[in-house]
Amino acid sequence: MFADVILPLPLDGTFTYALPAEWGYRVKPGCRLTVPFGKKKSYSAIVLRLHDLRPEGYEVKDAIELLEDAPILLPSQLRLWQWMADYYLCPIGSVYKAALPSGLKEEDEESGYKPKMVQMVRLTEAYAAEDRLVGAFIELKRSPKQAVLLMKYTEMSKVAASLTMKDPTLCLEVEKQELLKACDSNTTIFNALVEKGILETYEKQVDRLDVGDASDQMVLHLLSPAQKFALDGIYKQFEEKNVCLLHGVTSSGKTEVYIHLIYNMIEQKKQVLYLLPEIVLTTQLVNRLKRVFGNRLGVYHSKFSDAQRVELWQKQLSHNPYDIIVGVRSSVFLPYQNLGLVIVDEEHEQSFKQQDPAPRYHGRNVALMLAYMAGAKTLLGTATPSLETYYNCERGKYGKVELFERYQQVQLPDIQVVNVAEERRKKMMSGPFTSVLLKEMHDALQNKEQIILFQNRRGFSPTVECHTCGWVPRCPHCDVSLTYHRRLNQVTCHYCGYVEPLPRKCPNCEGERLDNVGFGTERIEDDIKQVFPDAQVARMDLDTTRSRTGYEKLLHDFQNGNTDILVGTQMVTKGLDFERVSVVGILNADTMLNMPDFRSYEHAFQMMSQVAGRAGRRNKQGRVILQTKTPDLPVVQQVVANDYATLYREQMEERRLFHYPPLYRLVSVYMKHRYESVLNALAYEMAQVMRKVFGERVLGPDTPPVARVQSLYIRKIMLKVELNANLSEARIRLRQIEKHFLAQEQFKSAQIYFDVD
Ligand code: ADP
Ligand code: ZN
Ligand code: ZN
Repeated sequence: MFADVILPLPLDGTFTYALPAEWGYRVKPGCRLTVPFGKKKSYSAIVLRLHDLRPEGYEVKDAIELLEDAPILLPSQLRLWQWMADYYLCPIGSVYKAALPSGLKEEDEESGYKPKMVQMVRLTEAYAAEDRLVGAFIELKRSPKQAVLLMKYTEMSKVAASLTMKDPTLCLEVEKQELLKACDSNTTIFNALVEKGILETYEKQVDRLDVGDASDQMVLHLLSPAQKFALDGIYKQFEEKNVCLLHGVTSSGKTEVYIHLIYNMIEQKKQVLYLLPEIVLTTQLVNRLKRVFGNRLGVYHSKFSDAQRVELWQKQLSHNPYDIIVGVRSSVFLPYQNLGLVIVDEEHEQSFKQQDPAPRYHGRNVALMLAYMAGAKTLLGTATPSLETYYNCERGKYGKVELFERYQQVQLPDIQVVNVAEERRKKMMSGPFTSVLLKEMHDALQNKEQIILFQNRRGFSPTVECHTCGWVPRCPHCDVSLTYHRRLNQVTCHYCGYVEPLPRKCPNCEGERLDNVGFGTERIEDDIKQVFPDAQVARMDLDTTRSRTGYEKLLHDFQNGNTDILVGTQMVTKGLDFERVSVVGILNADTMLNMPDFRSYEHAFQMMSQVAGRAGRRNKQGRVILQTKTPDLPVVQQVVANDYATLYREQMEERRLFHYPPLYRLVSVYMKHRYESVLNALAYEMAQVMRKVFGERVLGPDTPPVARVQSLYIRKIMLKVELNANLSEARIRLRQIEKHFLAQEQFKSAQIYFDVD
């Protein structure tokens, strides 16, 4: 027998190994083997298929060890991996690396995952009868301590009742440690009972999973008429279509609608995957879902320990998996035995896209494929649909249901645009705040209401600059200036993580005055403290949410009103539901609007509408102050008017004109190299070869806005293909071109990769 296996290395295709005859039929697809490869002794590889065709042209090596009899992957997972490698033009080994928690892919057994085992106690076979148990107490007449222990065991396990009723399920499991503690006994006494053959121990694997305290009762909120109408609409769409969009304004109660759908699914004994774009959001949601679904709910994301993730994986493979999984994009990799529904909440979110490393996949799109392969339905929910999704609704591929009424008819927020350029000219600004925003903040604080401020830059200031000569600290490895973090008194690179202390003087002219240019969240936090010294301010960005407890505390404090003002990056824009927020400030819309990306207006609209939606949720209309230098820009007006239809129409017009998604398929080819001259040659030649194959559909090579990261120069070529083109053919050609260049001596140390869609 031979096995084709996948290695956890960024390598294409599979590798074939011979299997020792004595393993027989124990090896199955989805099992792990250790195999020898390259210079390093061994890797843990996944079996993709088994066959008896001896490969020709090289000597086949033997697999070393079979790591487990039961596969750790279902066939459907392997199919999804193959689809991802193919669609996202990346090695299947990279998919393997991304998919498994490290405990399941450890090459080195020692550091691999070890389940947590505890010692349990039970009666031996010989004493597991009513009269035998009575007999045991008589035997123990002269050993009172042992009798006490046995008595405690019978009490804790309720074994007597179980024996009387002849129903083993009535007997409870008892942990040895707890038993000894309960009767103040010790191991010596316990061992005596074991030696007499009365008690025995056995091992049990325990959950490290945090199940929390939750009732098993499922209590659903009653839906409002509008919500009920939407729910019925979704069921109706699902009769004909596999995918449905729930386009519902913020606070319309989309989550309540999802809960009813989930309830219905698990009544039918099907599993549900609930995908969220951001870990921060899981906390609020999980609390809400736990109240309804209790311990049927599992949570999966990277803030959990690896051991917990392995445990959840194993549980999903067992006969007793969670019915509902809530998680971020990586949850598409979990085993699902009986998937019925996938919910992608905030489907428009960019954070569903993995940028680095490969696979550079979009969580929503993989979820759609996962559902499709499982014959499950997908519900995409958002207040601001992605153009991709909306286009698929318009052309009838997806169903669409609208929910344009907020729960309890709370009004949508009132959005006021303030011209920063004008206020600056009139000297009305204080720091990053316009006079209009300051007044709103002042009033809100007076009324004991809360405020959210959104600034899409972390750190203190995006950069510092020498007052005398204009010198700016730059990253030695990347083509960017360094961001100043005042708490640490450091300047850091947000691309590669490079850090250095802020210089005391300008290294260029010895000038002593360094000015802060621009505002990051840290600086805004400081400025608020200047203006409103009594207000409680908190900051939510990458720097304050690195730990799970960090962001949970932030949310908790804001929820409980311990925080008056929350400053944050895009993290504060997403789906958080707070009751007392009356004012939202968008401090600088222009950084979003000026992003050099064809999706920048779409994303700016989504982010601004979403953060605006945090205002005025329950008892009063919220106020949103949108600060910008370009108040007349159509997209700004579309945010104010909450006019998605116009945004969609205008943006689609541009996409049509310039051949961008969703009307064309886009593949970006990235090339990286240490030497710029080599890279230029590669980029030029590659673009030429691509033009021979794809003609006018090829653009570039271009130098991206950040053209060097981690000491590697970067170039980019774009390929825009018609929607109806034969994509599998195009993919094959692209991978051939990649191989062709990497095989050349001069380019072999280059990196080439693809970014699809
Ligand atoms: P969305 O997901 O559309 O932003 P949510 O589901 O978070 O909206 O609903 C907003 C708020 O209104 C939440 O606090 C939610 O608990 C409440 N709510 C919505 N619908 C109902 C309902 N049918 N019964 C009780 N509370 C509801
Ligand atoms: Zn200087
Ligand atoms: Zn850098």
